[in-house]
Amino acid sequence: MKYIDEFRDGKTARVLARVIGREVRADRRYHIMEFCGGHTHAISRYGIADLLPDNVRLIHGPGCPVCVLPIGRIDNAIDLALKRGAIVCTYGDCMRVPASGQLSLLKAKARGADIRMIYSAADALKTAQDNPDKEVVFFAIGFETTTPPTAVVIAQAQKLGLKNFSVFCNHVLTPSAIAHILESPEVRDYGTVPLDGFIGPAHVSTVIGSRPYEYFAEEYRKPVVIAGFEPLDVMQSILMLVRQLNEGRAEVENQFSRAVTREGNLKAQKLVAEVFELRRSFEWRGLNEVPYSALRIKANYREFDAEARFGITYKSVPDNKACECGAILRGVKRPQDCKIFGTVCTPENPMGSCMVSSEGACAAHYTYGRFRDAA
Ligand code: SF4
Repeated sequence: MKYIDEFRDGKTARVLARVIGREVRADRRYHIMEFCGGHTHAISRYGIADLLPDNVRLIHGPGCPVCVLPIGRIDNAIDLALKRGAIVCTYGDCMRVPASGQLSLLKAKARGADIRMIYSAADALKTAQDNPDKEVVFFAIGFETTTPPTAVVIAQAQKLGLKNFSVFCNHVLTPSAIAHILESPEVRDYGTVPLDGFIGPAHVSTVIGSRPYEYFAEEYRKPVVIAGFEPLDVMQSILMLVRQLNEGRAEVENQFSRAVTREGNLKAQKLVAEVFELRRSFEWRGLNEVPYSALRIKANYREFDAEARFGITYKSVPDNKACECGAILRGVKRPQDCKIFGTVCTPENPMGSCMVSSEGACAAHYTYGRFRDAA
C-alpha cells in the first residue's frame, strides 16, 4: 500500500540497524522508553528489538489507554449499567478489562447490563438520540488523541439540548505521566529503571505538538524523539536518540514531521480547553495517584458530567495480586517476569489490563512471541 509500504521496507530497516550498530558506543548502554502503546505494538510486531545491538534496551512505558485505567473506574462504569439502568457506551478495548468481582464490562453485559461497544464518540451521542427514554453514558477514556472527539460530542449535546446524555470522563494527559515516571523513586533514587531518553508519542503529539516535551529535555536532560508508528519511524527515532546521547544533547526532535508540528492542532486544543479542566489528581493503574494528570468536565457543561449526574464516587481497588501490570507500566518489570504470563493470563483470558489491548505490553509480547528485550 502506498505511503505505508515505504515505512515497512525490510531492506531499509536492515540498513538503519547497521547504522545504529556502527554508532552505538561499546562502553555505554542506551535505555530508551517508548511511552506509547502504539510503539510497543510496532516494536513487538516487527521484531525491532531483535535488530538492535545488545546495549540498546527498549523499555515499555504506560502509554496504553486501556492499561492505565484503574479497576475502580471500570467498577463505576459497570455500576452505572447494572445498578443505575444506564446504557453505557465505550470503545471495544475497554470491554474486556478485568474489574472487581471477576467482572468486566463484557461479563456485565452477559448479565443483562446494556453496555454497547462503539467506534466513535459520535456513536454514543447517536445512541442517546435514538433512546430518549434511557440515560446514555459515554465511558470516555484515552490520552490527548481521543479527548477532542469527546469535547465535540459534549458541545453538540448542549447545542441539541439533550437531556439523557452524559460523559464519564477518564481522559488522561501524557506529559504529566512522563514527569511522574521521571520523578519516581525507581528512576531518581534507586536507579532500578535507568532511563536515557524517550520515543515520544505519535498520535498524541499531532494534537499537543512537540512543545510540551521541551520541559523534560531541559529540566531532566532527557532527549525526546517524537516518532511515527511504522517500523522505520521507530528505527530512525532510535538512531536519532543514540546520536543525541552520544553527543550529550538532550533535545526534542521530531521524526514524525509528516504529521506533528511544534504547536500541534490549535483548534483541537481550544475545543478541549473550552470543555475540560484539570483534575487535581487521578489514579493511574501502576502509577497510583498522579497530580494534574487527567481532565474533568467544566462547570459550564456540568449537566453532561456523569460523575455529577449520578453522584459517582471513586474507590481505589487493588490489582489482582498475581498481576504485574503496575510494575510493567512503570518500566520496572517485563511481561515475561509475570508468573502467569502466557499460562493463566492470555489475550483470551486476560487477568490484567496489559493483556487486553493490542497496545498492551503483555498482549504485544504474547501475540508476537518477542521475549528478547531483557538486556
Ligand atoms: S501477564 Fe497478565 S497478569 Fe501478568 S502482568 Fe501481564 S496482564 Fe498482568
